[in-house]
Amino acid sequence: MSSEPRRCPGCGKETPRPEARFCEHCGVALALAEPPPPPRDVFGDRAVRFRALEGHAKLAALLTAKPEVPELAGKTLPSLLLLAGLCVGGLLISLFTLQLCPPLFLVPLTLVVVGAVAITRNLLWSARTPLVARPALIAAVRAQLQAGAERSHSNTRHFVQLEDAHGERVELECLPSAVRMLEPGALGVAYLKGKKLAAFASVSV
Ligand SMILES: [Zn+2]
Repeated sequence: MSSEPRRCPGCGKETPRPEARFCEHCGVALALAEPPPPPRDVFGDRAVRFRALEGHAKLAALLTAKPEVPELAGKTLPSLLLLAGLCVGGLLISLFTLQLCPPLFLVPLTLVVVGAVAITRNLLWSARTPLVARPALIAAVRAQLQAGAERSHSNTRHFVQLEDAHGERVELECLPSAVRMLEPGALGVAYLKGKKLAAFASVSV
C-alpha cells in the first residue's frame, strides 16, 4: 500500500483515517482507498517454474522412481508374524481365562480381535494403495501436536500443502520420514500413498 496520505477531492485536506468514506472537514464522499495489491507469488512465477520442471531431464526418471519409504518398506512379513502371534497368543490366553473365570475370557479376546483388525486394515491399505508420483510445489508445511504430547516427537503430525501447476492446493498428512524432505517453495515430484505424502524429490528449477 502507498504511504502517501489520502487527500479529499473537495477541500484538499488530508484524510487521516484510511477507511474513512467521507471527508471529516467538508463531508464530501471519498473514493475508497486502493485495494491492497494482490499477494505476490512468494515462490516465484509458478507457471514458469512448472514449465521448467516439465522440461527437466530428471523429471521422467523421478516420475517412474519408487522411493525408499521406511514406513512402507519391509512391513508385510513382520505384520503377518505379529498377526499370527496375536491370534495364537490371544487364543491361548482366552482358553486360560475361560478355565479360571469364564466371563473374563471376552476381555483378551476383544483385545486380540481389535488388534488383528487394525493390523489387517494396515496391511490391506499398504497393499492396495499405489504410490502415485506427480509434480508439485511445497506451498506450506505445518506440524500439529496432539493434545498433551508437546514433548513427544512421535505424537506430532505433519501436514503439507501441495500446489499444482494451476495453483490449486491440497493439504495432506506426511509420513514422518518425508518431513525432512519438505522445504516451502521447493518444486519437485511428490509421491502420494493414498491421502498421505510418502516422499518428495526436490528438483531445482
Ligand atoms: Zn474535504
